[in-house]
Amino acid sequence: MSDKREKKIRTSPPPNREQQGAKPDVEAPGDLQMPPEEMLDLAHRVAEHLVERIGKLPQDNAWEGEFRQVLDDQFLEEPPEDGRSATEVIDKAAHDILPYSMRLDHPRCFGFVPSSPTWPGVLADFMAAGYHVNQCTWLVASGPSHLELVVIDWFRRWIGYPEGAGGLLTSGGSAASLDAFVAAREAMGHPERATVYMSDQSHSALPRASIIVGIRRDCIRTIASDEHFRMDMDALARQVAEDRAAGFTPIAVAANAGTTSTGAIDRLEEMAEFCEAEGLWLHVDAAYGGFAIVTEQGKRLLRGIERADSIGLDAHKWFFQPYEVGCLLAKDENTLKRAFAIHPDVLQDTIWGKDHPNFADYGLQLSRSFRALKIWMSVQTFGMAAFRRAVSKGMELSAQAEEYVRASPILEAMNIVSLGIVCFRVNPADEDLDEEALDKVNRTVLARMFWDDRAFMSSTMLRGQFVLRMCIVNYATTWDDVRETLEAVERFGKDALSKAGQSST
Ligand SMILES: *Cc1c(COP(=O)(O)O)cnc(C)c1O
Repeated sequence: MSDKREKKIRTSPPPNREQQGAKPDVEAPGDLQMPPEEMLDLAHRVAEHLVERIGKLPQDNAWEGEFRQVLDDQFLEEPPEDGRSATEVIDKAAHDILPYSMRLDHPRCFGFVPSSPTWPGVLADFMAAGYHVNQCTWLVASGPSHLELVVIDWFRRWIGYPEGAGGLLTSGGSAASLDAFVAAREAMGHPERATVYMSDQSHSALPRASIIVGIRRDCIRTIASDEHFRMDMDALARQVAEDRAAGFTPIAVAANAGTTSTGAIDRLEEMAEFCEAEGLWLHVDAAYGGFAIVTEQGKRLLRGIERADSIGLDAHKWFFQPYEVGCLLAKDENTLKRAFAIHPDVLQDTIWGKDHPNFADYGLQLSRSFRALKIWMSVQTFGMAAFRRAVSKGMELSAQAEEYVRASPILEAMNIVSLGIVCFRVNPADEDLDEEALDKVNRTVLARMFWDDRAFMSSTMLRGQFVLRMCIVNYATTWDDVRETLEAVERFGKDALSKAGQSST
């Protein structure tokens, strides 16, 4: 930070601009406004905080957090009656609030489904906010609406959907699932006892979306998955037949294209056959795995996805965008309009005809942020070849991690790696530990990783067994990041095993 800029930035509260009796100063900004020079300085200061943070990421811990009481003591207060220096406020946010969150874009953040936004994507959100776009209708935002059409059309072609397919950008995968179930139910004629099917590996967003949509709890069916964590198709067929016989009306099946636990992809072709034969809506939850489709390997893995009636994607996961941006695509975009379009009098001026869509007619939200800009700006800046390489890199590193795990004398691979998720546990081949002991050892290892290592990973349960899990989707992650993290697991694993050995003797 240069001294010069430091001086220019106001460090005391602004004078009261409209004192009693005084003529308002036409030059001075009014309430909630700032002079242009200060605006620029503050924007620059924010940018400096961000660039500094990104530069330091590899040296920082992947996780940082604080307890409630500590934060209460610092921040629980009435809002101030008078303002103070904006610079101080920005610095306080940068030093005392924002660091206390997981660094999801850290090259060693492997927990849950992390992500790494591109800088043009971050700037696009800033620009969209600064231009104050409300991406609701064509009348209100024609440029942004058009760009959303452009981006949706990119996705449509990547997926292999026909013309006439369409959709909208959503806050994320949860909203996409919700909108999909509304469209499915509408397309199926809103029957009594509408019943939906998902697997025991489906993301919690799916049962939650079903509940919000008003599917009865006894009409949300969880189908068992097979040994590769894909929905068991025989079990699905049996359940649908039983339900029809018992007076339920099956309406939709939700397939996984990349489960959050293991990256498993359901048998999409077979599910499409089944749903066509049964007259069911097929929704594919591809929130995590969908953007693998930009690569050749991903295209092979996701074959059949184009037969689904709808698909949910998350660009804030494997398409390197800042939160929030997901997407719902429908094979026939009219299914969305039929489910969502309502034309209130107060918006009567916004109807411009069929070539001028109002995105508010496709889903839940009226006021919407301009999400397409970040996707468009980052793709324009880096080009698709760079995006393809970045997605491929996640898959390659995961495959390499799997090889490492399989070669390790003390680690056991727990999934066949698909996409970018590696599940494994400490379980030395030459020791005969029971499940209870393994559970304890691996929980200890996870806790050690959490407190003693810069990397962050999370866990999941597979067939009742506690397993460690790494999800590799960050464009900045290197093989050294992955290898050193696995080495730390081995080290902590050896410690935990020797302690377990001591306590049992
Ligand atoms: C992340 C995720 C979701 C939920 O998406 P949000 O963007 O968090 O709302 C749903 N399904 C899968 C498979 C996911 O990975």
